[in-house]
Amino acid sequence: MNSYIGHFIAGEPYVESNTRSGPVYNPSTGEEISRCAYASRDTVEKAVATAKSASEVWGKTSHAKRLAVMFKFRELVIANMDSLAEVIGREHGKTIPDALGEIGRGIESIEFACNEPHITKGEYSNNVAGDIDVFSIRRPIGAVGCITPFNFPVMVPVVMFAMAVAVGNSVVWKPSEKVPSAALEIARLWKEAGLPDGVFNVVQGDKEVVDTILEHPDIAGVSFVGSTAVGEYVYQKGTSNNKRVAAFTGGKNHMVVMPDADLEAAATAFVTAGYGSASQRCMAVSLLLPVGDETADRLLELIVPKIKALKVGPYNDPKADFGALISSESKMAVERAIDRCEQEGGKLVLDGRGFSVEDHPNGYYLGPTLFDHVSTDMQMYKEEVFGPVRGIIRAKSYEEALKITNRHDYGNGSVIYTRDGKAAHRFMMEVESGMIGVNVPVPLPTSYFNFGGLRESKFGEGHLYGPDAARFYTKYKTVSQRWPEHDNMISSSSLAFNPIA
Ligand code: NAD
Repeated sequence: MNSYIGHFIAGEPYVESNTRSGPVYNPSTGEEISRCAYASRDTVEKAVATAKSASEVWGKTSHAKRLAVMFKFRELVIANMDSLAEVIGREHGKTIPDALGEIGRGIESIEFACNEPHITKGEYSNNVAGDIDVFSIRRPIGAVGCITPFNFPVMVPVVMFAMAVAVGNSVVWKPSEKVPSAALEIARLWKEAGLPDGVFNVVQGDKEVVDTILEHPDIAGVSFVGSTAVGEYVYQKGTSNNKRVAAFTGGKNHMVVMPDADLEAAATAFVTAGYGSASQRCMAVSLLLPVGDETADRLLELIVPKIKALKVGPYNDPKADFGALISSESKMAVERAIDRCEQEGGKLVLDGRGFSVEDHPNGYYLGPTLFDHVSTDMQMYKEEVFGPVRGIIRAKSYEEALKITNRHDYGNGSVIYTRDGKAAHRFMMEVESGMIGVNVPVPLPTSYFNFGGLRESKFGEGHLYGPDAARFYTKYKTVSQRWPEHDNMISSSSLAFNPIA
């Protein structure tokens, strides 16, 4: 029987009757496994009101007490990794090792958020003029809306709200309606960690819930991760309602391979970073740009057998390299992108259409697909394809590869493979991407560096995680202070400091 996935408000699961709902599928089998409740406006307002009043207390709670909760939350996430990975795999379709990997990245960001007392320390200038001292303090912004995508049901939200909560805010989280269950597990762990009721709330749903969050006057800031079209909308609507908004959006990540590169390493990197998680990653390598035809031909020889050796299977198959796509709609959209690239003149090297997995004929599987001779006028170059279809653009020179990379609308991640330090340095200086890899295929920075793309991969200021995330979730106040001498105070024995009293 299908289960029903509801919300979490004021420290308790919250079920609303007579509400809209949508199906949740197991992409590995294509079965509908549960229904996700879509919160009404009243329910979102209840969550926001709860979060707002909880933020007033949590924001005044000492660093020491907040950190005790953060440390406990970290321990609990670690203790529950296996069950969380199972929940992720069942609703998302990614393999268990992949799911464990994303939880691991989430844990790193909880650990970094435990540095918040240090990161949020203010500045102090003594005696700027006439005994005046000036200092800054940083305060939480209040109730924060978090809107997250399907492709990282735990990592993206955790990296987002670990810092938001650690610095004293409360959260209203709207997970992707395609992967709603992990949110309730996470909420349960926060409660068990001792987070006061109301600081962390989950409202499930779709656009209507997002709109209510974006319009609500008691939401001070919104963090969004998802597609570019939706992210731009969230940014514009949120900022027009006077909220701070940071939206992290789509990517089309280029990997330039110079003729002098270690081609074996580059080929392995392209295959793992390109096809892992069925390429449903914003930091996946999408396009390979070998410099020179000889580099392209040699790479192709190395890549094709590696791609053919990839095993596609259900999330719980320990031998699977990647799993199903998130939905049948998504599978059809990716198949359309393959058809189109063929029509536009891309050379199909490997075709994943018509692929199925034994015993799971209705799963949303697509085999790995590769196009050679992609050009910049094709949709395969222009669009983010969220499925295992990768393209090769043959560049004549480093300059041409750079130009192709920088001309793209997206600027999430870019990678160069080379043995030449000067070429790598030049790339690092010239490429217009937020995250850059040098002989590293997925330059997802560690938790204590800032994460965020450029151009249409990000709307608004701030970073998703890293020290800059603490800035996004806090407001500055600057105090100029003078204490005039007070004869009575200094001489009065009754007011004098008495360490024994
Ligand atoms: P999506 O934009 O469809 O959904 C993201 C969130 O927005 C979900 O919670 C969804 O319910 C909500 N939403 C969907 N349509 C909406 C609408 N019209 N109005 C308001 N809200 C709406 O994204 P997705 O398919 O879940 O995730 C994949 C996308 O996320 C890809 O484009 C990927 O590149 C991007 N992504 C980016 C990053 C990054 O850090 N830049 C990280 C992960 C994923």
